[in-house]
Amino acid sequence: MRSWSIPVGRLFGVDVRIHLTFFVLTMFIFWTDYAAHQNNASGTHDLALVAIILACVCAHECGHTLAARRMGMIPKAVILLPLTGVTLYDEAHAEKPQPVPLRWTREIRLAVVGPLASLALAALSAGIVTAAGRGGDLWKWPLLQTGNLPKSFVWANVYVAVLNLLPAYPLDGGRILRAMFSRSMDASAATRRAVSISNAIAMVLMVAGLFSDSWLTMVGVIVFSAAQLEERALVFQSVLDNVRLEEVMLTDFATLSPADTLEDALEKAVHSLQDDFPVVRGGDMVGVISKQRILDALRAEGNGYVQAVMNKIFEVSLRQESLGSAFRKLTTRNSGLIPVVEDQRLIGIVTLQNLMHSMALLAESRKLQRGEPER
Ligand SMILES: [Zn+2]
Repeated sequence: MRSWSIPVGRLFGVDVRIHLTFFVLTMFIFWTDYAAHQNNASGTHDLALVAIILACVCAHECGHTLAARRMGMIPKAVILLPLTGVTLYDEAHAEKPQPVPLRWTREIRLAVVGPLASLALAALSAGIVTAAGRGGDLWKWPLLQTGNLPKSFVWANVYVAVLNLLPAYPLDGGRILRAMFSRSMDASAATRRAVSISNAIAMVLMVAGLFSDSWLTMVGVIVFSAAQLEERALVFQSVLDNVRLEEVMLTDFATLSPADTLEDALEKAVHSLQDDFPVVRGGDMVGVISKQRILDALRAEGNGYVQAVMNKIFEVSLRQESLGSAFRKLTTRNSGLIPVVEDQRLIGIVTLQNLMHSMALLAESRKLQRGEPER
């Protein structure tokens, strides 16, 4: 889900990652600057311009994430692209899991905050530049210029604000469009329609850029990448909400008995791919234990019985529960395994490893299904 981006730190408790299109942008700026001046002397200024664009996008996204937090959503990570950001929300720890249907007014309010933040920052920095007596330069072309960084900061914010209003999902304009669609259709259909409009716009920009300003091509590439990223996050979310545990639980698994010695347990564990084991007595779940726990106990106290070291407090799930709910249980309890029971009998297990694996597979298969013509 986070591929093509690298982590750079945390801001307001949110993981910040930079998408690889930023490196494309850097090379693009070097290249256009080199083409304009036939030398590479302004390399540090080129990097400074990239840093300015990064700062403007970061400020824009901060606007969104702070507003989202006020609305009770929990932003978990934000991936910064040269024009926009894609925020991933922590649905697993939300008070109540957010159902897929979107509350469209909230979506619109959340979308509008970003461009407003960018415009405010542009106005503020224009004021500072003017106060410093450089206001006359502000309106001279080109607006983004490696040779005049304060002016570039002002206009980069304006660009971020204006371009984000394009109706190209997941730019803010596209989010507003999707919110409008979601009034008359279900959320995933609204997203699909918004994404296809967005892909068309990206294509037009990329082609138009070839015949005019190559910045348009760059914007097209960014819009296209952002839409892919966002769509993947949504597929992931729909898998969490719609897949039942019975579809992914492991039904062929090893169990331990409370009467097993730790050495026997370790011997069994060696022959299994599982890291965590349900402990079963006559068909009833009585505990869970991990390979690591067995090893630790053996090291610390020598051989003993599974009974004595197993974890007797554990959560169970039912086969109809969603993947998302099992995921929440696993992460909040910090355990490696959830037994799936029916009439108090163990019918399967779900482990963190197996969840990650099956979610990736399911997301892939949903994408394939989605590619097919509908009905
Ligand atoms: Zn935005």
